[in-house]
Formats: sequence, C-alpha cells, structure tokens
Amino acid sequence: MEKCTGCGLCEKACPFGAIKIVDKIAVIGDECTLCGACIDQCNLDAISIQRKKFIDVDLSQYQNVWIVVEIKDGKVRNVSFELLGKALELADELKQDPCTLLIGSNVKRFIQDFSNRGAKKIYIAEHEALKDYHTETYSSIITGIISKYKPNIVLYPATISGRDLAPRVAATLELGLTADCTSLSIQNGLLLQTRPAFGGNIMADIICPITRPQMATVRPNVMEMASIKGNDNAEIIDIPVKVDLQNLKIKTKEIINAPTSVCGPPVCEADIIVSGGRGVGCKENFKFLEDLANVFKGAVGASRAAVDLGWIPKSQQVGQSGTTVSPKIYIACGISGTIQHLVGMKSSDVIIAINKDPNAPIFDVANYGIVGDLKTVVPLLTEALRKRLQNNN
Ligand SMILES: Cc1cc2nc3c(=O)[nH]c(=O)nc-3n(C[C@H](O)[C@H](O)[C@H](O)COP(=O)(O)OP(=O)(O)OC[C@H]3O[C@@H](n4cnc5c(N)ncnc54)[C@H](O)[C@@H]3O)c2cc1C
Repeated sequence: MEKCTGCGLCEKACPFGAIKIVDKIAVIGDECTLCGACIDQCNLDAISIQRKKFIDVDLSQYQNVWIVVEIKDGKVRNVSFELLGKALELADELKQDPCTLLIGSNVKRFIQDFSNRGAKKIYIAEHEALKDYHTETYSSIITGIISKYKPNIVLYPATISGRDLAPRVAATLELGLTADCTSLSIQNGLLLQTRPAFGGNIMADIICPITRPQMATVRPNVMEMASIKGNDNAEIIDIPVKVDLQNLKIKTKEIINAPTSVCGPPVCEADIIVSGGRGVGCKENFKFLEDLANVFKGAVGASRAAVDLGWIPKSQQVGQSGTTVSPKIYIACGISGTIQHLVGMKSSDVIIAINKDPNAPIFDVANYGIVGDLKTVVPLLTEALRKRLQNNN
C-alpha cells in the first residue's frame, strides 16, 4: 500500500463496498471478496492479490453445483433452465445442493421460476446498472461471489455473453474452464466435461482435478430443462452490490440486436426447422424451404456449406460452429449429414431427410427419409400440408 495516493478509484470500483479511503490511503475491509475489480482500476499498482495455490487448499470446502442464469430482454433464457436440469442431476449424484445465481436488474421476480424447479439456494446480485450484460461489472461481481461462497461446480450458458463472461472469471481466479460442453457427468467425484474436439471428429473428456470450482460452459439445446416440481422453498441469499459505471473501461452506448431469423422464430427456439444444404442449389431455391417452414410457423436452418455460399445468413447455421438445436421436427433438405452438422441437430425429436443420394449419411440418423430431388419433393410436401391444414380448419 506504499504506492497508494488515496485517489479513491478503487473505492468507487469495489462492487461490494469493501474499500474506504482513510487518511488518504485505501483500507480494505472484511467485506472484500477478492474479486479484483480494484486492481483493474488502480493506475499505480498499489493493490495486489496473492491467490493461494490450490495445492495448499482444502478442496472439500468447495460445495454445491451452481448455475449462472442468463437474462436477456427482461426474460430468462431457456438455456438457464437447461443448466438447472443438469445441475439437479449432478448435485444429486454428489449429494450437494443445486444453486442458482441470478444477476441483473429487478431479478427477484424470477426467484420462483428456479425455486419451483428444484434450486435449493438462490443467490441474488441485483442492481439497476446490471440491466444489460457488461463484461467488467458481471465478471468482477461473479468472481467475488465465487471467491466468497466457494461452489464446487459452476455452469454457464455457452451463449455470446456466457462465452465472454466465463473465461474472464476463470482467468481472474486462475481456474480451468471447459467451453461448449455437450455432456456433463460425475466420475469419481469429479465433473467429467465432454465436448467435441478436432473438428468434431472426436469427443474429448476433460476433468479439472486440482482447481475449484470446476467450470464449464454448456451449449443451449443439448440438456433437458428442469421441469416445474411445485416445491418452492429455496433459501434466498441477497448479496448487496454496488456498480460504478463511470470508471468502466468499456462503455455500452447502444445494444443492437442482429436479425436472428430469415423467417419465423430464431432457430435455437423453433419447434420445427426446415434446413437446407448445398443440395438446395442456389439462394433463390431457399424459397421452397421458407414456404414449407411458413406452413408450420417454423424456422429455416442451414448447413455451413449453404451459409458459406452466401445463400442464407450465418444466424441460421446449425451444427458444431453454428447453433445446436433440438426441435420437435427437423427437416434436412439437401444436407449430406457430416458429423459437424449432426452434432448440432441429432437430438431433435423427429428427423426427416430429403436427399437425392440414397446413401447419404443423413439417412442413418433420420426417422423418415425421402430419396428425391428437393426441388420437387419440398413443394409437394408444402402443398399437401397446406391442404391438410385447410381441411382440418
Ligand atoms: C471445424 C468445422 C466446423 C464445421 N461446422 C459446421 C457446422 O456448424 N454446420 C455444418 O453444417 N457444417 C459444418 N462444417 C462443415 C461440414 O464438414 C460440411 O462441409 C457441411 O456440413 C456440408 O454441408 P452440406 O451437407 O450442405 O453439403 P454437402 O456435404 O455437399 O452435401 C450436399 C447434399 O445435398 C444432396 N443433394 C444435392 N442436390 C440435391 C437435390 N437437388 N435434392 C436433394 N438432395 C440433393 C447431395 O446428395 C448431398 O448429400 C464444419 C467443418 C469444420 C471443419
């Protein structure tokens, strides 16, 4: 602290109100959670944190399975309930508690959504300045909360903000992090984190035996959502936080949502997806797929080949480097069925493939297959469905 001039930047930056300037020097109080927000602000390197090496740490003090909830446009994203579904399973196996961290503005209204789905403890970090996701504020608050409450496992959504947040928390706390997991289980008391590797050709199993918490981001639409159970007795832990937007290094001026779907709902949320690949032949032919999707009020998806050819926006891409989907019906038109595409859609309830090659690998995963030219088959299907719906009305 010899370098401290009492400038007060650290006092403003501390989200937990743990720093006071006394006699022109920063004094760090017991409320300090070691989140590190003050270090980022101090221009004089007057503050440092010496984190304990995990070799000297009793790992048994890290308990419970946490999820970090994502709230967007004032709504809880479904992936949060999927994370809770997995957390319930992992916690049950470890005989620990499934816990939820709600961070944002006006988030207490979501408590019941998690307590009646089985969360045992709900941690709340609420502040009006946390309305929208911000790297610095969210990561320093979550880092501090993790340091204080010591969870065993923390799961984040592998969404745009989750992919930004989790590595930052992991780097500050000097932890491992497995990104984009498609499966999680417990093996010998450790979190076994499975994700595609080497271009999706193998599934890699990863463990973090010496650091805690064990942390992973999980792809939306790959885990089952926690169902409503009706029990509503979660313990609520309110964590007071303060946010100083003035001194943030990154300022959010405006949030512009990119268009997510060419027609219908976003692919990640659609119940029915009509997807096209290279076999569609050209941009104009995607109209056949749109017509079919419109009958169902579904979305149009695509393989990476169709996206790379510029026939459809990247937001519609399904697969390893696109979106993972699990709709009720997935109709793959002119898609061969490479592993990178299959990992993104194979958990769909019903898969229908339309392909002119009877040996296309997509037929190996399809429940129903039509061998034929999609330019003939898709319009016939659309027409037949339209008639059926008209007769039913
Ligand atoms: C690291 C990495 C990540 C990747 N990520 C993804 C990803 O997220 N999503 C993804 O999709 N791919 C991804 N890929 C690419 C993937 O390997 C394939 O190249 C791609 O999926 C192939 O797309 P496709 O099936 O549309 O094209 P093709 O493999 O060329 O298949 C076209 C199919 O259309 C059929 N066909 C042709 N004409 C017609 C017709 N008139 N009627 C009916 N059928 C017809 C053909 O028989 C063929 O089966 C990735 C690759 C790598 C290396």
